Amino acid sequence: MIYLNGQFMPIEEARVPVLDRGFIFGDGVYEVIPVYSRRPFRLREHLKRLQHSLDGIRLANPHSEDEWVRLIGELVERNEEEDQSLYLHVTRGVAKRDHAFPPGVAPTVFMMSNPLVTSTPELVESGVAVVSAVDNRWLRCDIKAIALLPNVLLRQLAVDAGAAETLLLRDGFLTEGAASNIFVVRDTVLLAPPKDNLMLPGITYDVILELAAAASLKTEVRRISEHEVRTAQELWLTSSTKEVLAITHLDDQPVADGRPGPLFRQMYPLYQDYKNTVMRK
Ligand code: PMP
Repeated sequence: MIYLNGQFMPIEEARVPVLDRGFIFGDGVYEVIPVYSRRPFRLREHLKRLQHSLDGIRLANPHSEDEWVRLIGELVERNEEEDQSLYLHVTRGVAKRDHAFPPGVAPTVFMMSNPLVTSTPELVESGVAVVSAVDNRWLRCDIKAIALLPNVLLRQLAVDAGAAETLLLRDGFLTEGAASNIFVVRDTVLLAPPKDNLMLPGITYDVILELAAAASLKTEVRRISEHEVRTAQELWLTSSTKEVLAITHLDDQPVADGRPGPLFRQMYPLYQDYKNTVMRK
């Protein structure tokens, strides 16, 4: 079951006109929310980021927070899986093709649920390989825009190289991954790039920094140079569906000894514990 403009229906029955500005211009924003045991994880934070993205593209939020919570709850109930990946998408609606905003047009609201596929224990144990590339995206990467062509091309570089993700560098500094945030460990300090216009403010990124603070790990939020990335003791990637994974190879070079490091081994169970505690509340 999916949700489209006020109605729940099977995905096969869902239709969007070809003049939808999402289709024509990529003029819209989205969210991906993990659902564990039928409970959306960090829902308020995702809805806050949605508002930030909508503000960023100057599109009025079609729903109040309470309405979103109710609609999302209903979609979760109408789907079978206990653990789901909820995709939510708002576009500027259907209008004659013209770049400028169309007046008086209702936005298109689409949501779907897919089974949540998290990382296997083997992947957590082995870590993943990534490749690096120049971050050639625009200067509003803080907006979770559906226009993802640069991210698509960047992620494909990883797939072509048999790697899991592409780590992005802009002007000699780390920004994030093609669809994830990146953390760096140096001298037992957990480093994270600042939440600015060059990266998506990850919900998982915030969870990791909160857990690190609670565990009294040393953290620093600051710009991280390419040299610091390439000589790191540990690299991690985070996202709502991948949670937290160790990066064990960068551009075919091992990160330290090529195995998940001690701080990762400390953080991974903290993340799982936190998730389980929140879900049981
Ligand atoms: N950066 C980008 C470019 C992403 O697409 C994602 C995943 N949607 C993230 C970071 C991680 O964000 P989150 O932890 O909220 O999933």
